[in-house]
Amino acid sequence: MTDPSPSGRVAALVPAAGRGERLGPGAPKALRELSGSPMLVHAVKALAASPLVDLVVVAAPAESVEQVRSLLGGSEIGAELAVVAGGETRPESVARALINLPHDVDVVLVHDAARPLVPVEVVSSVAAAVREGHPAVIPVLPMVDTIRSVDAGGSITGTVPRDQLRAVQTPQGFQRSVLQRAHAEVDDSVTDDAGMVESLGIPLHAVEGHEESFKVTRPMDIVLAEAVIAKRRAR
Ligand code: C5P
Repeated sequence: MTDPSPSGRVAALVPAAGRGERLGPGAPKALRELSGSPMLVHAVKALAASPLVDLVVVAAPAESVEQVRSLLGGSEIGAELAVVAGGETRPESVARALINLPHDVDVVLVHDAARPLVPVEVVSSVAAAVREGHPAVIPVLPMVDTIRSVDAGGSITGTVPRDQLRAVQTPQGFQRSVLQRAHAEVDDSVTDDAGMVESLGIPLHAVEGHEESFKVTRPMDIVLAEAVIAKRRAR
């Protein structure tokens, strides 16, 4: 059922249609600026920087498709680019990007616009692992905090050994046929694309993520992201 080693082109899908309310009111999150460029531009360039990525497809907020097209059209991206209208939920946005992929694409990466600083090595290692025959690949990082569960009254109900835990990042990589099947067959309330694929009984393969791939969610993350950009520019 799964392709032992896909050899067609690699597309990176970027669901970027979220409102990002946790960052505060304002433009759609993907269009917020980090050091002078929208987060989405950083994310798309980060994906296109991988020599393994041939095509980037962005799912933009429905009312901002033209704006996003001209924004990205005016930036030096370095890969073929398409912009489609996203949906009401993240899985819907991914499904809309997936539906129009060219036939010769058989590896699909899905990357959150909200992780604009993913290093090129992470993008390439996810794509390479799919090419090597893993049907679904996720970049992960060890946890730094101890994680405990609490009940509604604030009492501690348990702890999970930290060495068994990993935080999951994006891009997540898939054989195209596997991701399409997941979107056709699985209830999309499952948290992410890898979760949808896993519920088909397909194993996930982990590669090393990176601390600079953090998700820009809260105002504090913008400060951190701009510091990372400044550090890179100073190199
Ligand atoms: O809201 P959250 O941070 O979990 O969103 C993760 C990613 O999914 C973001 O890049 C966001 O733009 C995207 N998204 C989307 N369509 C939606 C909701 C979220 O593309 N309807």
